[in-house]
Amino acid sequence: MRFFLILLISLITINISGNNIHPNFNLTKEDINEIMPELNNDEIYKFLTNIHMMMEENVNLILVDKNNRLSSDYIPANLINLGDYNLHTRYKTMLFESYALNDFVKMSEDAKKEGIDIFIASTYRSYEFQNQIFNNMKNYHGEEKAATIVAYPGASQHQLGTAVDFGSIKPSYAYTDAGIWLLKNGWKYGFTLSYPENMEEITTYMWEPWHYRYIGRYGAIIQKEYFNNVQQYLLEFWNKYKLFFEENHIH
Ligand SMILES: [Zn+2]
Repeated sequence: MRFFLILLISLITINISGNNIHPNFNLTKEDINEIMPELNNDEIYKFLTNIHMMMEENVNLILVDKNNRLSSDYIPANLINLGDYNLHTRYKTMLFESYALNDFVKMSEDAKKEGIDIFIASTYRSYEFQNQIFNNMKNYHGEEKAATIVAYPGASQHQLGTAVDFGSIKPSYAYTDAGIWLLKNGWKYGFTLSYPENMEEITTYMWEPWHYRYIGRYGAIIQKEYFNNVQQYLLEFWNKYKLFFEENHIH
């Protein structure tokens, strides 16, 4: 009797693990192929490993753009002052999400070893501050023109505390040593360009070679490997399927 019970339990276990394509998810190959049809078994395994690691990093990956706005009372959970660390900041006080700090410092130090200065020009901006900037611009240029220059309050990634503007905040930053270095290496530290060139229809924003968002190291790997290295595609995907992966996630 005991033997049969063990046999039965083993058979059930084999059946479950046989269906699940990855130990960290209650998901079958078919489940994944419904949303990522082009991936084969090995690729699905690798993809889910990356998704699992991205989820463990626990970085805020909420989609924020002109069509997806944050509420006026959204404030990041743990803001710290980048000015207190080994970073080249424009102001003494520049706030950022605490979980990005180690990668931020490491990125800056590694760049420095190659003679590159990572100058941090703008970081966290509250809803109220964004509102103020927008209104100033509106009073000067009118609303239509203002909307092309400054984000509406709630529509800026800067309210997340994970977005950063580097250097001159001008298109010419793309051609500086730092601009070139960041585009090539930022993803290794979890920072990716939010608004690439000629992608305004997708991102809702003009090209901003100075504006990066911290999405975590695995977020950046997934963006690069599966989403054509476009941050917006990854964020749209994640906002659509986050719950689906969370509900089927085994830690
Ligand atoms: Zn920016």
